[in-house]
Amino acid sequence: MSERTVRVRFAPSPTGYPHIGNIRTALFNWLFARHHGGAFILRIEDTDQTRKVEGAVDAIKKSLDWLKIDWDEGPYFQSERLQIYHRCIQRLLDSIHAYKCYCSPERLARMREEMAERKESMRSYDRRCRDLTPEEIGRFESQGIMPVIRFKMPLDGQTTFHDLVRGDITFDNSELDDIVLLKSDGYPTYHLANIADDHYMEISHVMRGDEWLSSTPRHVLLYRAFDWEPPLFAHLPMILGPDKSKLSKRHGATSIDDYMDKYLPEAMVNFLALLGWSLDDKTEIFSREELIQNFSIERISRSPAVFNRDKLDWMNGYYLRRDSRPQDINNEAATAPVDAEGIAPQVSTDFVDRLMESLDNDLPPEVRRPTREYVEQIAPLIVERLKTLREAAENFGFFFVDEPIYESGLLLGKQLTVETAIRGLEAALERLQDTQFDALSLEEALRPLASDLGLKTGDFFGLLRIATTGRTAAPPLFETMAVLGKERCLKRIQTAVTKLRESS
Ligand code: GLU
Repeated sequence: MSERTVRVRFAPSPTGYPHIGNIRTALFNWLFARHHGGAFILRIEDTDQTRKVEGAVDAIKKSLDWLKIDWDEGPYFQSERLQIYHRCIQRLLDSIHAYKCYCSPERLARMREEMAERKESMRSYDRRCRDLTPEEIGRFESQGIMPVIRFKMPLDGQTTFHDLVRGDITFDNSELDDIVLLKSDGYPTYHLANIADDHYMEISHVMRGDEWLSSTPRHVLLYRAFDWEPPLFAHLPMILGPDKSKLSKRHGATSIDDYMDKYLPEAMVNFLALLGWSLDDKTEIFSREELIQNFSIERISRSPAVFNRDKLDWMNGYYLRRDSRPQDINNEAATAPVDAEGIAPQVSTDFVDRLMESLDNDLPPEVRRPTREYVEQIAPLIVERLKTLREAAENFGFFFVDEPIYESGLLLGKQLTVETAIRGLEAALERLQDTQFDALSLEEALRPLASDLGLKTGDFFGLLRIATTGRTAAPPLFETMAVLGKERCLKRIQTAVTKLRESS
């Protein structure tokens, strides 16, 4: 580890909610800062006035708050630091590391077209203004043309820098353009503002996505021109979709706000931390403290990370169950499967709160909102079967609607004929008239009925499960029926009989 105090930054452009890659960058920087007792700085890179989006800074802060990624300094805004950049530019002009370019956008566009036609290497500028005479400069100035300022790249040789993840990297200087440092609107470009800030903010390590790798030789040359010591660089591996192409909208949601109402922040932090970092090849579950304790740049992978939504769902399920336990029950139990007897686990009031909130958001508007008392009864039955809270309304809607919707064919499964199914349901209806609606009494009443009817228990219970819930897979049948209550169960079984009659 370097002697320097660790100071790292997250430097998003305010163009909307951060995407998964941005937020992974924020998290890695934050973990690194917290591991070393250093500082994590938030810097808003808002020098591109054309790309600025209203509300984006709030969106960035909200995303970080959600994941409890707190910053020690900032947010700094580059748009409020223009004087610093202007001073830097003057320095480079004075030392002849930069020059004024008067070329119009039209000329540049034409030049690029011609270059493309000639199939020349796609340089974005032909350096026409690099060596203007004082007379030529005077002529442009007298026409009132506002120049941009460009960096005088070395024309030959190579630039090598060390990357803490990838090792030494070398670029041919001939591949590097005379990049614009200051635009004609007086705002700096990313390159200038970024390195000036990293210098003046005394950033020790620049950790960012590897889409910025090709900018780094330019930055290194700028540091040299200023005679500044560059920070250490660590470029994070790309994030790929499951099909191994770069993660994009095609793979579904890529913006963090799409995850905010669906996943638990603890699960998201754990998941993001493993996108390009690992402790070993087996440990998957890390608390925030464990991540801080173990995080190191040495364990960042060079090869791309794959964004696996199923893994995120699985992790979310893990945290959901863990957090659903009442405080006094050992957390180890979070991974334990439902008790063989189907005895439902206890749940915390916190979990019931979250479930209430998510049902409130996710149940269709026409469905009456359940009372807390009702949700308290359902929570233990579904907690083991949820990967995300959203699934509560999606998969267990039958607890809340008047009648579940399903195809009558479902009632027959593979084994039953319409006649046997009707016979089974009618027998159940009769038996249930005098049955008390608690799980034990229901089981005592219904289990012997299967053999009385000459049906396999599994087939008979399956039939009842579909009639009462509309689903082939649901929580334990008798507990579910007890929660649904007598009136609703009888009505649903009756409806099932009618459906079968109508279908035959
Ligand atoms: N503003 C850049 C971004 O939006 C920052 C890149 C860097 O970290 O240097 O990601």
